[in-house]
Amino acid sequence: MGREVRRVPLDFDWPLGKVWEGFLLPERLREEPCPDCESGYSPHAEHLFNLWWGHLPFTPESNGSTSLRSDTPAVRAVAERNVAHAPAYYGAGEDAIAREAQRLANLWNGMWCYHLNQDDVDALVAADRLWDLTRTCRPGEGWKKTDPPVVPTAEQVNEWSLRGFGHDAINSGVVISARCEREGVDATCATCKGHATIQSYPGQRADAEAWEPTEPPKGAGWQLWETVSEGSPVSPVAASADALAEWMSNPERGRDWVPAETARQFVERGWAPSGVFSAQTGLVSGVEYVGWAESERRDRS
Ligand SMILES: [Zn+2]
Repeated sequence: MGREVRRVPLDFDWPLGKVWEGFLLPERLREEPCPDCESGYSPHAEHLFNLWWGHLPFTPESNGSTSLRSDTPAVRAVAERNVAHAPAYYGAGEDAIAREAQRLANLWNGMWCYHLNQDDVDALVAADRLWDLTRTCRPGEGWKKTDPPVVPTAEQVNEWSLRGFGHDAINSGVVISARCEREGVDATCATCKGHATIQSYPGQRADAEAWEPTEPPKGAGWQLWETVSEGSPVSPVAASADALAEWMSNPERGRDWVPAETARQFVERGWAPSGVFSAQTGLVSGVEYVGWAESERRDRS
């Protein structure tokens, strides 16, 4: 967990583990969810979004694509890989591979994202979203557009999407918007203009953008805060740096316990990241890493 030391008044009594109120957007500035959409899409685009991810019944043929089969090479290849990775789960041998291949084919046949047509692909190319297929990565030069430019076929793109990470949320947005445009339908929700929330009063959005968090009050005390959430205190307020370090190195801290010297160096330094990986130490908690790095620095100087 990310940790930092804050100087707060000795009588600061904000509840431990509760995000400091000044760090949170006040209730009056929080917009209402849009009553007409989930994510800012128009009803038609929302429907397309559900087809994209297979949340609603979809067939490859409905988009001019062909159903995958258990012996489609890309399906078979992923099935072989899955079975080889987890034989305890899938079993072994041809039967297990065939079963997994059929499961994958059924799953992927129900999702638009694996069955693009050429219009969908053209939209992705226009948005420069298919680097694996339209660019070449050369050492020292990075990703350069293939010259002359290539437009991959729908078949190539669908095959590519099966073998790797596939399309991300940006690609789904590009394809859905392009299809809405071709069909002459608005892709964004008319009620909220795509925000997915509506203002409770005119100007609320601008007020929220202008809002700045308020720091907790400053004082003579020392307190440990976690920074994984917006920020909340996790230790009692200590009267001195040493007292806070002592609290941190008390064995009662259990999992969060750190050696006294580490704690003292951390308090001096004031903050630590969640976790740090280095060749010398492997993955250690941020507090430990800061303590370790400080001793190393002192040893050298
Ligand atoms: Zn809406």
